[in-house]
Order: sequence, then structure tokens, then C-alpha cells
Amino acid sequence: MSLVAIVGRPNVGKSTLFNRILGQRKALVEDFPGVTRDRHYADVTRYDKPFTLIDTGGFEPVSEDRLLVQMREQSQLAVEEADIILFVMDGREGLTPADHEVCGMLRRVEKPVLYVVNKVDSDKLEDLAGEFYALGVGELHTISAEHGRGVPDLVDALLDHL
Ligand code: GDP
Ligand code: MG
Repeated sequence: MSLVAIVGRPNVGKSTLFNRILGQRKALVEDFPGVTRDRHYADVTRYDKPFTLIDTGGFEPVSEDRLLVQMREQSQLAVEEADIILFVMDGREGLTPADHEVCGMLRRVEKPVLYVVNKVDSDKLEDLAGEFYALGVGELHTISAEHGRGVPDLVDALLDHL
């Protein structure tokens, strides 16, 4: 069965997206970064296509350096383990150096990577995605994991790779 890993900096909304795709609360969502210390796995079936979704966590980074080290490790693990990667960024916080760095790494990976800009809670906020085009990754999926906006389209795009 295909493994789909959700990766990204702490607090971008990975666990919220995991729960949203599942349609139930399984991963802990917290207002503070770094709460998901373990990994959550869940089997999902959409349009008769089964896949396993992985929510990746991490420790609260003590510094920007530690954050980068952790992001590299987390992403490397996901790349090794998963068949498809959902790389989630935070539209409200904007593009960060860690996002840049990890994107550079993911671009060299020969597996499908879907780039997601989360927290775009309404049409009015679509402009938030603008600066992320600087990453040069092509298509960006703007979603609101919290409200569900854009998530069905993201799941459709994901299923195309299964
Ligand atoms: P994780 O650390 O990446 O797993 O992030 P969480 O899922 O724990 O979410 C971190 C914070 O972002 C929580 O306060 C969520 O409620 C919030 N959040 C997640 N998704 C959205 C969203 O689509 N819109 C907004 N406005 N907040 C969100
Ligand atoms: Mg989490």
C-alpha cells in the first residue's frame, strides 16, 4: 500500500491536515510548535484507492539551526519511507529559510511531492500563496486544513499519483 507522508515545519498544520483527510481527530493539534513527538499512521481509502497517511512530528526546536537539522532528518526519513510526500507550509507565516532549504532537497527526490500552502482560510487570502511561487516548484495547493477549503482537490491530486 502506498505511504503518503505529511512533512513541514512545526505548527504549519500537519496534524490538522492529517485529521482533516481522515475525517476524524487522531493526531493532537496544538497551538504550540512541536507537540507531535511521535508519528501517526492511518489507513485511508478514497474512491476505492487505499493509502497510508503518516503525520510526522518533531521536538520543539530550540533554535533556527536545530529546526533545520530536524527538518532535514524528518524530510529524509519521509523520503526514504514514503511513496508520496505532502510538503506543508504556512501561508500566514510566509516563506521561511527552512522551507527554502527543504524544498531544495525535495526537488531532487524522484518521488511525487505535492507542495501545500496551508491556512489560506478564504478566497480573499489566496494572495498569501504569492510569495511561495519564488520556490519555483510549479503547482502550489492552497488549502485550509482547519476549514477544509481546498482539501478535496489536494486529495484528488494525491490520488492521481497512487
Ligand atoms: P503541526 O505542528 O504542523 O502538526 O500543526 P498543528 O496541526 O498542530 O496546527 C498548529 C496550529 O495551526 C494550531 O493552532 C491549528 O489550529 C492551526 N491551524 C492548522 N491549520 C490551520 C488552517 O487551515 N488555518 C488556520 N487559521 N489555522 C490553522
Ligand atoms: Mg503535529
